[in-house]
Amino acid sequence: MAISGSPLLDTFTYHTDFPLTPGERVVVDFANRSVVAYVVEITDELPEFATKPVLQKLDEKPFLTSKDVELALRISERFLCPVGKIFDLFFPPGKVMNVKSFVVPQSQELPIKDIIPLTAAREKFGAVTIENWKKSRKIRIVHSYEQKKTRVQKKKFVRLRLSIKDLEKIKLTDLQRKVVEHLFSFDVIEVRELIKNLDLKSISPIQTLEKKGILEVFEDETYEFSDWTIAPIDELTSEQRRVLNSIVYDFKGVHLIYGLTGTGKTEVYFKAMEKVLTEGAQVLYLVPEVSLTPQLLARVKGTFPGREVRVYHSYLSKAKRQGIWLDAHEGNVDIIIGTRSSIWIPMRKLGLIIVDEEHDASFYQQSSPHYDAVEVAVEKGKLHNIPIILGSATPRVTHYFRAIEGEYKLHKLKHRPVGKLPSLELIDMRKSKGFYVLSKKALEEIKELLKDEKQIFVFVHRKGFSNYVVCTNCGTVIKCPNCDISLTYHRHGNILKCHYCGFTTPPFSNCPNCGSAALSARGFGTERVEYELRNFFPSVKIIRLDKETIESPSDYEKALRMIEQEDAQVVVGTKMIAKGLDFPKVGCVIVVDSDRLINLPRYDATENAFQLITQASGRSGRGTFGKTLIQSFNPDHPVIQNAVENDFERFFETEIKTRELLKYPPFSYFVEMIVEHVDEKRCQKKAEEIAELIGKEFSEQFFEIHGPVVPVIKKFKGRFRMKIFLKLKPEASMKELRELIKKHSAQIDLVVDGIGGML
Ligand code: ADP
Ligand code: ZN
Ligand code: ZN
Repeated sequence: MAISGSPLLDTFTYHTDFPLTPGERVVVDFANRSVVAYVVEITDELPEFATKPVLQKLDEKPFLTSKDVELALRISERFLCPVGKIFDLFFPPGKVMNVKSFVVPQSQELPIKDIIPLTAAREKFGAVTIENWKKSRKIRIVHSYEQKKTRVQKKKFVRLRLSIKDLEKIKLTDLQRKVVEHLFSFDVIEVRELIKNLDLKSISPIQTLEKKGILEVFEDETYEFSDWTIAPIDELTSEQRRVLNSIVYDFKGVHLIYGLTGTGKTEVYFKAMEKVLTEGAQVLYLVPEVSLTPQLLARVKGTFPGREVRVYHSYLSKAKRQGIWLDAHEGNVDIIIGTRSSIWIPMRKLGLIIVDEEHDASFYQQSSPHYDAVEVAVEKGKLHNIPIILGSATPRVTHYFRAIEGEYKLHKLKHRPVGKLPSLELIDMRKSKGFYVLSKKALEEIKELLKDEKQIFVFVHRKGFSNYVVCTNCGTVIKCPNCDISLTYHRHGNILKCHYCGFTTPPFSNCPNCGSAALSARGFGTERVEYELRNFFPSVKIIRLDKETIESPSDYEKALRMIEQEDAQVVVGTKMIAKGLDFPKVGCVIVVDSDRLINLPRYDATENAFQLITQASGRSGRGTFGKTLIQSFNPDHPVIQNAVENDFERFFETEIKTRELLKYPPFSYFVEMIVEHVDEKRCQKKAEEIAELIGKEFSEQFFEIHGPVVPVIKKFKGRFRMKIFLKLKPEASMKELRELIKKHSAQIDLVVDGIGGML
């Protein structure tokens, strides 16, 4: 049995008098609580210890099959994560039942007259008494469960009922007129947003206008622009056709399409999908972030009219996700476009999985349970014997290596069917005196392109105004009290904010350490770049896309449509604008702070830097021509050089040699282990014990062990953290490591969680 929600690596044995199948959800007693559990294995063998009974089944029909069970076991072994938490991933949030135990009195002489919850009875009469009553059959204990009620989030929207002509006859106050005029530019707008946009003090002008019949306020669960479709292409180019043929010729297994940005990978996926769909099977199309779904959805709808297409991601309400999940499970949906979590939907007729932008870090879940959705896709493909297509202009080094070694099938696309690959140009920021954010050259380029009615994308790694605030007197950096990372200054709202936990505070006027007033903001993010641009180009339409300005997929879709309709001339954004977007008018992409990418403290920092620069640059030149300007203080760095030459293969050649030399993945299995505990000393002690144990009993299987060390984020949400690094040999047994940790953590009260391995 795998216990739902449990952080433990173990599974547990129970007995049952009714038939069960692997994958079924049941209720069991675990540590005196009724909990949901998953049947992992059925066995006739009698264990040597006493077992408790399975209390009841949870579902009339089981949702999971033995293949799903196998998948969960493989992934939890591979990523060393709690098996119960992996099983939970199969289900949409809110579906887990709330199971409660009740005491039913069976005898008149008891002080209990009515059915009461078991916990209340234990509190009132003591556990011993309850046990005795149970033994003497004076009470009966029953379990009951209810589905947690999910609150459907209703939003209020407003739209105009009258046309401009009708309105001329009606008398309005200035404020009402302002509302009406604002509404002319929208079909529909959320009431909350309307209030925000116009800085209204209350909802009353809207209500008055509603009473007059001028506008209509209505509720909707989530408003979606469902009418955006993009027409399909006529036919594949010969290069695309060649790739498609070689994919479908030997369809089963894992395919990796290495195709430069804009070379038509998406269209090749579409053709492969068509084949699977006509055979009556379902397609799962994974995208790295919810931000990629609106434009893709519009293309899929245009290409597959009449097919049932659904988008699945965490921005949807729980009720909505459950609905889509059930439909997908039962085979009533043809295509699911989704983010990481959708890889776990048990789709009954799944015939193909596509992972677009397969290099993207968001496929890797950074919180417990840790897993890599691309690895899950590959495992799933093997179990169900279906094809998997991974695609990217900058494949993961590990995946490209596997493709070269023949484990995956490699396909290449090098030519853009429309437009040209952008020409890349390096700007040496050391020579850009007085222009640290945007170089003179970049500003001139923007000016020129605006004359030509081109759009410009300005890519910035970080959001916010400046990255951190430092005391120039004593060197103290202002940090978050919860997370120990530097706070970011946001000009909008004039606050300091923690990007991990959301903590905010007004800016300090004096240094909390030495009292000096010499506090200075360093570094910069999107907001600062936007500010500079507005200074230089006051009359230009500039929009900013980052987590601050984009809070939902519909915000994002609105922004994309503004770009599409050329209501935005300059677009400043984080990686939200670096990925996947396809707009023909983009004449230039400026990578503002490329250095920051290279200097992150990770073994794959260069890989990530190469990916981001190339991806951002790929937004350019999709119409007629395009440029990319890369600003750098390290213009000689090999990654910057390779990125400028747009040469992934050359980058790979050097990178793989370094990896081999330093025994980094794919030549090792890289495991980061985070030990967490509320107590700092205990955290450290436990981490040391674990490191020592691994050092002693597992030494044959690793190249190197480091730590425990204090990680960059040493405290997170109130828990202290210590990190242990392990470079395992490729043949190392994760099973043995798992057993070792299990043995150790069974005796102590810490959570060995946050163990992850990037292959
Ligand atoms: P990628 O996924 O590799 O970035 P896309 O599939 O988005 O590339 O294609 C880039 C652009 O080229 C899109 O606007 C797409 O409509 C267009 N395109 C792709 N294939 C063709 C083709 N065979 N004929 C015409 N246009 C095409
Ligand atoms: Zn100071
Ligand atoms: Zn914080």
